[in-house]
Amino acid sequence: MRLQGKVALITGGTSGIGRAMVELFAREGALVTLTGRARAAGRAIGEAIATSGGEARFVPLDVRRLDELRQVIAATAERHGRLDVQVNNAGAVLPKSLLETSEDEFDLIFDTNVKPVFFGTRWAAEIMLRQGGGSIVNTASTSGLRGQRERAAYCGSKGAVIQITRAAALDLAAYQVRVNCVSPGAIDTPLLRAARFGAQANQDELVAQVGRGLPLGRIGSPTDIALAALYLASDESEWVTGTNIVVDGGGTA
Ligand code: NAP
Repeated sequence: MRLQGKVALITGGTSGIGRAMVELFAREGALVTLTGRARAAGRAIGEAIATSGGEARFVPLDVRRLDELRQVIAATAERHGRLDVQVNNAGAVLPKSLLETSEDEFDLIFDTNVKPVFFGTRWAAEIMLRQGGGSIVNTASTSGLRGQRERAAYCGSKGAVIQITRAAALDLAAYQVRVNCVSPGAIDTPLLRAARFGAQANQDELVAQVGRGLPLGRIGSPTDIALAALYLASDESEWVTGTNIVVDGGGTA
Protein backbone atom coordinates (compact mmCIF):
# COMPACT_ATOMS: atom_id res chain seq x y z
CA MET A 1 0.00 0.00 0.00
CA ARG A 2 1.37 3.34 -1.08
CA LEU A 3 0.46 5.38 2.03
CA GLN A 4 0.65 2.66 4.68
CA GLY A 5 0.44 4.24 8.15
CA LYS A 6 0.73 7.82 6.90
CA VAL A 7 -1.35 10.46 8.69
CA ALA A 8 -3.24 12.58 6.13
CA LEU A 9 -5.55 15.56 6.52
CA ILE A 10 -7.74 16.43 3.51
CA THR A 11 -9.88 19.59 3.43
CA GLY A 12 -13.03 19.58 1.32
CA GLY A 13 -13.27 15.80 1.63
CA THR A 14 -17.07 15.64 1.62
CA SER A 15 -17.65 15.80 -2.15
CA GLY A 16 -16.16 15.43 -5.61
CA ILE A 17 -12.37 15.41 -5.90
CA GLY A 18 -11.71 15.58 -2.15
CA ARG A 19 -13.98 12.65 -1.49
CA ALA A 20 -12.15 10.56 -4.11
CA MET A 21 -8.85 11.48 -2.43
CA VAL A 22 -10.18 10.41 0.98
CA GLU A 23 -11.38 7.06 -0.38
CA LEU A 24 -8.18 6.37 -2.35
CA PHE A 25 -5.81 7.45 0.43
CA ALA A 26 -7.68 5.29 2.96
CA ARG A 27 -7.52 2.29 0.57
CA GLU A 28 -3.77 2.88 0.31
CA GLY A 29 -3.40 2.59 4.08
CA ALA A 30 -3.45 6.22 5.22
CA LEU A 31 -5.06 7.30 8.49
CA VAL A 32 -7.27 10.04 7.06
CA THR A 33 -8.96 13.04 8.62
CA LEU A 34 -11.42 14.71 6.24
CA THR A 35 -13.08 18.07 6.71
CA GLY A 36 -15.97 20.03 5.21
CA ARG A 37 -19.15 21.80 6.25
CA ALA A 38 -21.58 19.04 5.15
CA ARG A 39 -21.76 17.01 8.35
CA ALA A 40 -24.05 14.21 7.19
CA ALA A 41 -21.98 13.60 4.05
CA GLY A 42 -18.71 13.72 5.98
CA ARG A 43 -19.88 11.25 8.61
CA ALA A 44 -21.30 8.89 5.98
CA ILE A 45 -17.98 8.83 4.10
CA GLY A 46 -16.10 8.08 7.32
CA GLU A 47 -18.51 5.29 8.25
CA ALA A 48 -18.38 3.67 4.80
CA ILE A 49 -14.58 3.62 4.90
CA ALA A 50 -14.57 2.18 8.43
CA THR A 51 -16.92 -0.60 7.26
CA SER A 52 -14.40 -1.60 4.62
CA GLY A 53 -11.57 -1.67 7.17
CA GLY A 54 -10.03 1.77 6.55
CA GLU A 55 -9.78 4.86 8.72
CA ALA A 56 -11.30 8.22 7.81
CA ARG A 57 -12.41 10.51 10.59
CA PHE A 58 -14.69 13.43 9.74
CA VAL A 59 -14.19 16.79 11.46
CA PRO A 60 -16.61 19.61 10.55
CA LEU A 61 -14.78 22.72 9.36
CA ASP A 62 -15.42 25.85 7.34
CA VAL A 63 -11.94 26.60 5.99
CA ARG A 64 -12.63 30.34 6.05
CA ARG A 65 -12.40 30.11 9.85
CA LEU A 66 -8.64 30.12 9.92
CA ASP A 67 -8.36 29.70 13.69
CA GLU A 68 -10.42 26.50 13.42
CA LEU A 69 -8.35 25.25 10.48
CA ARG A 70 -5.21 25.72 12.58
CA GLN A 71 -6.84 23.86 15.46
CA VAL A 72 -7.87 20.89 13.25
CA ILE A 73 -4.33 20.59 11.86
CA ALA A 74 -2.86 20.66 15.38
CA ALA A 75 -5.45 18.21 16.75
CA THR A 76 -4.84 15.75 13.90
CA ALA A 77 -1.10 15.78 14.54
CA GLU A 78 -1.65 15.45 18.28
CA ARG A 79 -4.01 12.50 17.89
CA HIS A 80 -1.56 10.48 15.80
CA GLY A 81 1.73 11.93 17.02
CA ARG A 82 2.57 13.23 13.51
CA LEU A 83 1.22 14.68 10.27
CA ASP A 84 2.63 13.27 7.04
CA VAL A 85 0.29 14.64 4.37
CA GLN A 86 -1.81 17.80 4.21
CA VAL A 87 -4.12 18.24 1.21
CA ASN A 88 -5.54 21.75 0.86
CA ASN A 89 -8.36 20.88 -1.50
CA ALA A 90 -11.51 22.77 -0.37
CA GLY A 91 -12.56 25.30 -2.97
CA ALA A 92 -15.45 27.21 -4.48
CA VAL A 93 -16.10 28.68 -7.91
CA LEU A 94 -17.77 31.94 -8.91
CA PRO A 95 -19.13 31.79 -12.46
CA LYS A 96 -19.07 35.55 -13.02
CA SER A 97 -17.22 37.94 -15.28
CA LEU A 98 -14.99 40.71 -13.98
CA LEU A 99 -17.76 43.24 -14.62
CA GLU A 100 -20.29 41.30 -12.53
CA THR A 101 -18.07 40.51 -9.52
CA SER A 102 -18.64 42.43 -6.27
CA GLU A 103 -16.03 42.96 -3.57
CA ASP A 104 -17.88 40.55 -1.26
CA GLU A 105 -17.85 37.85 -3.94
CA PHE A 106 -14.16 38.40 -4.61
CA ASP A 107 -13.47 38.10 -0.87
CA LEU A 108 -15.53 34.89 -0.63
CA ILE A 109 -13.46 33.26 -3.38
CA PHE A 110 -10.11 34.35 -1.99
CA ASP A 111 -11.11 33.57 1.62
CA THR A 112 -12.09 30.03 0.51
CA ASN A 113 -9.50 29.23 -2.18
CA VAL A 114 -6.38 31.15 -1.19
CA LYS A 115 -6.02 32.06 2.51
CA PRO A 116 -6.68 28.49 3.79
CA VAL A 117 -4.15 27.14 1.28
CA PHE A 118 -1.50 29.66 2.38
CA PHE A 119 -2.04 29.19 6.11
CA GLY A 120 -2.89 25.48 5.87
CA THR A 121 0.50 25.05 4.19
CA ARG A 122 2.22 27.14 6.84
CA TRP A 123 0.64 25.44 9.84
CA ALA A 124 1.08 21.90 8.48
CA ALA A 125 4.71 22.72 7.61
CA GLU A 126 5.41 23.93 11.15
CA ILE A 127 4.50 20.47 12.39
CA MET A 128 6.18 18.58 9.55
CA LEU A 129 9.52 20.34 9.84
CA ARG A 130 9.78 19.31 13.49
CA GLN A 131 9.33 15.65 12.50
CA GLY A 132 11.82 15.82 9.63
CA GLY A 133 9.56 16.12 6.58
CA GLY A 134 6.13 15.76 5.00
CA SER A 135 4.13 16.34 1.85
CA ILE A 136 1.65 19.14 1.19
CA VAL A 137 -0.61 18.90 -1.85
CA ASN A 138 -2.76 21.83 -2.97
CA THR A 139 -5.64 21.64 -5.43
CA ALA A 140 -5.16 24.38 -8.01
CA SER A 141 -6.80 24.39 -11.47
CA THR A 142 -6.05 24.85 -15.14
CA SER A 143 -7.97 28.12 -14.53
CA GLY A 144 -4.83 29.22 -12.70
CA LEU A 145 -2.77 28.75 -15.87
CA ARG A 146 -4.85 30.52 -18.47
CA GLY A 147 -7.66 33.04 -18.60
CA GLN A 148 -11.24 31.90 -18.77
CA ARG A 149 -14.37 33.93 -19.45
CA GLU A 150 -16.73 34.44 -16.49
CA ARG A 151 -14.17 33.21 -13.95
CA ALA A 152 -12.06 36.32 -13.20
CA ALA A 153 -11.90 35.92 -9.39
CA TYR A 154 -11.61 32.13 -9.62
CA CYS A 155 -8.75 32.28 -12.15
CA GLY A 156 -6.96 34.77 -9.89
CA SER A 157 -7.41 32.56 -6.84
CA LYS A 158 -6.06 29.44 -8.56
CA GLY A 159 -3.10 31.32 -10.05
CA ALA A 160 -2.33 32.34 -6.47
CA VAL A 161 -2.47 28.71 -5.34
CA ILE A 162 0.09 27.69 -7.98
CA GLN A 163 2.47 30.53 -7.05
CA ILE A 164 2.08 30.02 -3.28
CA THR A 165 2.90 26.35 -3.88
CA ARG A 166 6.12 27.17 -5.75
CA ALA A 167 7.32 29.79 -3.27
CA ALA A 168 6.44 27.67 -0.22
CA ALA A 169 8.31 24.73 -1.76
CA LEU A 170 11.47 26.85 -1.85
CA ASP A 171 11.03 28.05 1.74
CA LEU A 172 10.46 24.51 3.02
CA ALA A 173 12.79 22.37 0.90
CA ALA A 174 15.63 22.54 3.44
CA TYR A 175 13.32 20.86 5.95
CA GLN A 176 12.31 18.05 3.54
CA VAL A 177 8.75 19.41 3.53
CA ARG A 178 7.55 19.12 -0.07
CA VAL A 179 4.81 21.34 -1.49
CA ASN A 180 3.15 20.55 -4.83
CA CYS A 181 -0.16 21.12 -6.52
CA VAL A 182 -2.48 19.37 -8.92
CA SER A 183 -4.32 21.37 -11.57
CA PRO A 184 -7.49 19.60 -12.66
CA GLY A 185 -9.14 20.43 -15.95
CA ALA A 186 -12.86 19.71 -16.33
CA ILE A 187 -13.82 17.12 -13.70
CA ASP A 188 -17.36 15.83 -13.30
CA THR A 189 -18.29 17.05 -9.80
CA PRO A 190 -21.18 19.04 -8.31
CA LEU A 191 -18.97 22.17 -8.52
CA LEU A 192 -18.49 21.80 -12.28
CA ARG A 193 -22.15 21.01 -12.95
CA ALA A 194 -23.40 23.97 -10.89
CA ALA A 195 -20.89 26.43 -12.38
CA ARG A 196 -21.29 25.40 -16.02
CA PHE A 197 -24.88 24.26 -16.30
CA GLY A 198 -26.77 25.82 -13.34
CA ALA A 199 -30.21 24.28 -13.09
CA GLN A 200 -30.36 23.08 -16.73
CA ALA A 201 -31.87 19.67 -17.38
CA ASN A 202 -29.99 16.92 -19.32
CA GLN A 203 -26.77 17.59 -17.39
CA ASP A 204 -25.34 14.13 -18.17
CA GLU A 205 -25.48 14.95 -21.88
CA LEU A 206 -23.90 18.39 -21.31
CA VAL A 207 -21.08 16.78 -19.31
CA ALA A 208 -20.53 14.21 -22.07
CA GLN A 209 -20.37 17.04 -24.61
CA VAL A 210 -17.62 18.78 -22.61
CA GLY A 211 -15.72 15.49 -22.62
CA ARG A 212 -16.05 15.04 -26.38
CA GLY A 213 -14.39 18.44 -26.83
CA LEU A 214 -11.22 17.30 -25.03
CA PRO A 215 -8.26 15.61 -26.75
CA LEU A 216 -8.70 12.40 -24.71
CA GLY A 217 -12.41 12.36 -25.49
CA ARG A 218 -13.97 12.27 -22.03
CA ILE A 219 -14.44 14.46 -19.00
CA GLY A 220 -12.21 13.78 -15.97
CA SER A 221 -13.34 11.78 -12.96
CA PRO A 222 -12.48 12.75 -9.37
CA THR A 223 -10.31 9.62 -9.24
CA ASP A 224 -8.14 10.94 -12.11
CA ILE A 225 -7.14 13.78 -9.76
CA ALA A 226 -6.91 11.63 -6.63
CA LEU A 227 -4.35 9.40 -8.39
CA ALA A 228 -2.09 12.40 -9.08
CA ALA A 229 -2.47 13.58 -5.47
CA LEU A 230 -1.63 10.06 -4.29
CA TYR A 231 1.67 10.17 -6.18
CA LEU A 232 2.52 13.58 -4.68
CA ALA A 233 1.50 12.48 -1.17
CA SER A 234 3.52 9.26 -1.28
CA ASP A 235 7.28 8.72 -0.96
CA GLU A 236 7.36 7.87 -4.69
CA SER A 237 7.61 11.64 -5.28
CA GLU A 238 10.34 12.23 -2.69
CA TRP A 239 12.43 14.25 -5.20
CA VAL A 240 9.48 16.36 -6.39
CA THR A 241 8.67 19.77 -4.93
CA GLY A 242 7.27 23.06 -6.23
CA THR A 243 5.62 21.42 -9.20
CA ASN A 244 2.15 21.61 -10.66
CA ILE A 245 0.77 18.41 -12.20
CA VAL A 246 -1.81 19.23 -14.85
CA VAL A 247 -4.47 16.52 -15.17
CA ASP A 248 -6.86 17.71 -17.84
CA GLY A 249 -7.35 15.16 -20.62
CA GLY A 250 -5.04 17.25 -22.81
CA GLY A 251 -7.22 20.36 -22.53
CA THR A 252 -4.40 22.87 -22.11
CA ALA A 253 -2.03 21.11 -24.52
P1 NAP B 1 -17.19 19.95 -4.97
O1 NAP B 1 -17.63 18.60 -5.32
O2 NAP B 1 -18.15 21.08 -4.91
O3 NAP B 1 -16.37 19.88 -3.60
C1 NAP B 1 -15.88 21.03 -2.99
C2 NAP B 1 -15.38 20.65 -1.63
O4 NAP B 1 -14.86 21.83 -1.00
C3 NAP B 1 -16.48 20.11 -0.74
O5 NAP B 1 -15.99 19.04 0.03
C4 NAP B 1 -16.83 21.30 0.13
O6 NAP B 1 -17.22 20.86 1.41
C5 NAP B 1 -15.49 21.99 0.24
N1 NAP B 1 -15.66 23.40 0.57
C6 NAP B 1 -16.07 24.42 -0.22
N2 NAP B 1 -16.14 25.55 0.48
C7 NAP B 1 -15.75 25.25 1.75
C8 NAP B 1 -15.63 25.99 2.94
N3 NAP B 1 -15.89 27.32 3.00
N4 NAP B 1 -15.21 25.35 4.05
C9 NAP B 1 -14.94 24.03 4.01
N5 NAP B 1 -15.05 23.27 2.94
C10 NAP B 1 -15.46 23.88 1.80
O7 NAP B 1 -16.06 20.45 -5.99
P2 NAP B 1 -14.76 19.76 -6.62
O8 NAP B 1 -14.90 19.93 -8.08
O9 NAP B 1 -14.52 18.44 -6.05
O10 NAP B 1 -13.66 20.81 -6.12
C11 NAP B 1 -12.55 20.44 -5.31
C12 NAP B 1 -11.38 21.33 -5.66
O11 NAP B 1 -11.03 21.10 -7.03
C13 NAP B 1 -11.67 22.83 -5.55
O12 NAP B 1 -10.53 23.48 -5.00
C14 NAP B 1 -11.88 23.25 -6.99
O13 NAP B 1 -11.59 24.60 -7.20
C15 NAP B 1 -10.89 22.34 -7.69
N6 NAP B 1 -11.13 22.16 -9.13
C16 NAP B 1 -12.24 21.54 -9.60
C17 NAP B 1 -12.41 21.38 -10.98
C18 NAP B 1 -13.61 20.69 -11.58
O14 NAP B 1 -13.75 20.70 -12.81
N7 NAP B 1 -14.47 20.06 -10.79
C19 NAP B 1 -11.43 21.86 -11.85
C20 NAP B 1 -10.31 22.49 -11.34
C21 NAP B 1 -10.15 22.63 -9.98
P3 NAP B 1 -18.60 21.28 2.14
O15 NAP B 1 -19.61 21.55 1.08
O16 NAP B 1 -18.88 20.09 3.01
O17 NAP B 1 -18.21 22.49 2.92
